[in-house]
Amino acid sequence: MSSHDVVIVGAAPAGSLAALVLARAGHRVALLDRAAFPRTKVCGNCVNPVAWDIWQQLGLTESYEALPHHEVTGFTVNCEGRFVFEQTFHSRRRAPRAIAREVLDDWLCREAQAAGAEFFPETTVTGVDPNRGTVQTSRGEFTGKLIFGADGRNSLVARQSGLMPPPRRCHRVAWQTSIPAPADLDNQVHMHLFEEGYFGYCRYSPTHAVISMVLDSRRTQDPFLLARRIFPRFMEQDWLRMNPITRAPARNGTGRVWLIGDAARVVEPFTGEGISFALSTGHLAAQAAIKALARSDIASAFKSYDRSHRRLYRRKVWVNAFVRWGLTTPSYTVRILRVMERAPAIVSFLSHRVHAT
Ligand SMILES: Cc1cc2nc3c(=O)[nH]c(=O)nc-3n(C[C@H](O)[C@H](O)[C@H](O)COP(=O)(O)OP(=O)(O)OC[C@H]3O[C@@H](n4cnc5c(N)ncnc54)[C@H](O)[C@@H]3O)c2cc1C
Repeated sequence: MSSHDVVIVGAAPAGSLAALVLARAGHRVALLDRAAFPRTKVCGNCVNPVAWDIWQQLGLTESYEALPHHEVTGFTVNCEGRFVFEQTFHSRRRAPRAIAREVLDDWLCREAQAAGAEFFPETTVTGVDPNRGTVQTSRGEFTGKLIFGADGRNSLVARQSGLMPPPRRCHRVAWQTSIPAPADLDNQVHMHLFEEGYFGYCRYSPTHAVISMVLDSRRTQDPFLLARRIFPRFMEQDWLRMNPITRAPARNGTGRVWLIGDAARVVEPFTGEGISFALSTGHLAAQAAIKALARSDIASAFKSYDRSHRRLYRRKVWVNAFVRWGLTTPSYTVRILRVMERAPAIVSFLSHRVHAT
């Protein structure tokens, strides 16, 4: 049995950031992940500029700037192959960046280890007891004064702690693949909307581009068919798959278990905010946990985390919720696009809100 102050399940942005902050404060942190790092995952690879503030607060800006990346200058929206509108991002200085997830997640996990967190890769969590603070894994049992569930949208920690809402069928499925970037691919994210779903396409390195797609499985289960409509010479290749796309938020914690990142709440991928929410909630939870451990008062520190979590989403998530509503209500999608096409000020305002800290 291995004993720590905080056991964190999931070493992606939420878990690694929390591990880094807690380890820097002198706490014993176990960071567990079922994957061997570096590893890729389903994502559009775009990091929202909100992250710049977090890197700055933690002295990570220089290290982040050195990662291989591609600067994103704006986005286009296309419907059934027809260009509808484009938007250039406001700030060039703190622009969003496209970075491969195998690079971003591996980097942050290494920063957490450099701060003193113990990383246990290829360690699958199979059980959690929120009252005793124990975690069963493929490597044996871990105990913590606190356990953070940072294990993503299908969080086992949330399910086993009774925090996940009852499952509702989600017919939308995510797909992702990486392709050699054509020489004429610019610095924008290209969003393509179809009856069956949508995909985003952007360069994330000098040589490669990512296609991340959301499909309604009742209409089609084949991402290749949709990619082919826009890229007629697109070749058959491997795709990563993931679902659900969205689900009701979980409760943020119970007993010794707190949830962060996608484990707590999932947003619509279209606006590219999931990573920054994961980082922000990992940061908030770690700050509250430092107080909890100093005062041996988990209950009131949890209340403070829970409040700040709700405040963060209340302030930020409404654009994302509006976009999801527009995308999943086909009778409105075309009408909303028409309004956006004629009123670029609305697009500019919404895009600014998504990137505001
Ligand atoms: C199609 C699509 C496109 C997207 N594009 C973007 C984008 O461009 N920009 C953006 O900001 N967001 C995007 N997102 C959202 C983003 O990917 C997530 O919000 C983000 O990865 C959440 O980070 P996290 O740290 O909460 O968890 P995750 O990144 O989901 O990581 C969870 C970790 O937990 C580990 N884990 C899971 N279960 C266990 C277990 N039982 N035991 C041990 N370890 C476990 C996993 O191996 C993984 O490393 C997209 C999502 C989708 C579906």
